[in-house]
Amino acid sequence: MEHQQVGNNSVSKTVLVVAAHTDDEALGCGGTIARHVAQGDIVYAVFLADGVTSRLGANAEELEQRNAAAAEAHRILGIEKSYMLGFPDNRMDSVSLLDIVQKLEGVLNEIKPQVIYTHHVGDLNVDHRVTHQAVLTACRPVPGSSIKEIYAFEVLSATEWSTPGIAPFIPNVFVDISGHLEIKLKALASYELEMRDEPHSRSIANSRRLAELRGNSCGINAAEAFSLVRKLC
Ligand SMILES: [Zn+2]
Repeated sequence: MEHQQVGNNSVSKTVLVVAAHTDDEALGCGGTIARHVAQGDIVYAVFLADGVTSRLGANAEELEQRNAAAAEAHRILGIEKSYMLGFPDNRMDSVSLLDIVQKLEGVLNEIKPQVIYTHHVGDLNVDHRVTHQAVLTACRPVPGSSIKEIYAFEVLSATEWSTPGIAPFIPNVFVDISGHLEIKLKALASYELEMRDEPHSRSIANSRRLAELRGNSCGINAAEAFSLVRKLC
């Protein structure tokens, strides 16, 4: 028993990433997911909308391609299982929050995660904002809750594109992903239909730069930055 309890990483954690769309998990915390998996933690992901059907002329084939890209990205990152909740893409503000919360609670009850990663409340994308709100509601700190930590991540082309000053992303947790950055970028590369060429913000090159910027901000090669919502220890 004494061996199991020594050090933070010796006890396996259950981690859940709650994202609006497939690709947000890789953009927001792909390196951190890979790091958790390397440490022996179990990582699940749940996606609230499909990321495709709001586009003009989107068809079943595109949705299939997006889901295939996600499956490949999740294999690369080492995600154990993904849940697709199927809410309307880019129209999540048209769904009652209660419906979203109840579906999310079903997943939480099944997985019983200790650590949650989700969107920042101030993102430009409406699905991201609704996801954050649904997570905070579904993860209320009621007695007996399994959830000990909730972190909000940043997503290129959604977090920094929002109105300045309304709900700025203020990172205060930095996860060293120096040994996992290439895995993150490989997962992002599987989303080739979502990624753009420079100088668009959502490029592979800019994802590398952001990781280096966040890392160099605290004297390491690469990091993902989070805004801590709540931590109980
Ligand atoms: Zn998104």
